[in-house]
Amino acid sequence: MSATSKFLEDYVSLACPLCERPVRVIRIYAPSQPGLKQVGVRHDDHVVIIKFDKYGVARDINAYPLVESAVYPQKTTIKCTRCNETVPILYESGLREYAVEHQDHFVIVFLIGKTHVTQTIDKVEPLRVPPRPNIITKIRREIGLKNLAMIMYYCILGEKKRIRVPAIIKEELENFLRKTFDRVPIILQEGALMNLGWCDEADYFWRKLLYVIGFSDKEAIMILKETVEMIKNMVSSLKRLLTRKGEAFVCSQIVYLREKDAKLYELIQKLLHLSCTSVETRE
Ligand SMILES: [Zn+2]
Ligand SMILES: [Zn+2]
Repeated sequence: MSATSKFLEDYVSLACPLCERPVRVIRIYAPSQPGLKQVGVRHDDHVVIIKFDKYGVARDINAYPLVESAVYPQKTTIKCTRCNETVPILYESGLREYAVEHQDHFVIVFLIGKTHVTQTIDKVEPLRVPPRPNIITKIRREIGLKNLAMIMYYCILGEKKRIRVPAIIKEELENFLRKTFDRVPIILQEGALMNLGWCDEADYFWRKLLYVIGFSDKEAIMILKETVEMIKNMVSSLKRLLTRKGEAFVCSQIVYLREKDAKLYELIQKLLHLSCTSVETRE
């Protein structure tokens, strides 16, 4: 903790994956790249585990139910590798993974068949601070999150569209788009907000925006930028495949996405000017 004390005013705010309430902790910096530093925070009856990279960016978040040793008169126990205290191994509980709280750390237990794997994670105290608005919440207040998702969708489509937005947010929105996308094809104009409608292909961005809404500006933009680059890279390699191997082949390559993320699947098809269902029915 002492190593991070100079960043005391710097914290992250995330949504708990289990209860959706905010979790706020001091920003942690992993000692190396690509290494990640994990910390755990108690959140009522569960533990939230956050992974930070060396830039102090929260890379991943998970939550595990917290097991009180006293509640389970367990038959099987092991000794904690860090403090020698007891860790119950609850094969009969029906839990696949859970956390046990010790003095200054949590032990996460993963049950795989009749074996177990444990992980010891440093404990940090949650911060009690009021929510901090970030660039996304500021834009949301003026134009709404779905409109922002639609604007991001037009940006990735590369449509040279003129969009009117309130003057108060124009500069901030421009800034946000410039940082998130390399090229910003749309032109923002001051005025009463245009009705942008809604299309399902924008849903992917909407969900990403919801995910980063409690993050700092730096983190939110970094994660959205990565999302945009992931989509662009995917589309450009699929485009090469499309020229070489044709539509049916490309459709067969992306069909796994339909189960994994149906809205992303629609977005990718749209960006490839491809309609995989028509290819499937044609065959
Ligand atoms: Zn929670
Ligand atoms: Zn321990």
